[in-house]
Amino acid sequence: MRYLVDEALCGGHGMCVAAASTVYALDEDGYNRDTGRTVEVPPGLEGPARTGAAACPEQAIRLLG
Ligand code: SF4
Repeated sequence: MRYLVDEALCGGHGMCVAAASTVYALDEDGYNRDTGRTVEVPPGLEGPARTGAAACPEQAIRLLG
């Protein structure tokens, strides 16, 4: 599984990290650190990846395969 964070949508709420800090992290400005690139979810963390994506109020996190 991979995920993509749409940098145009990410509003820096940090809910993704609050819900799934094992997968997501913020940059120094409070936005998801992975905006604009495709990232591989570490093995076994697919559940938290889904939980964190669902917690994003902007629906900025797209899960891929
Ligand atoms: S991905 Fe969503 S929840 Fe995470 S910092 Fe961006 S807007 Fe907030």
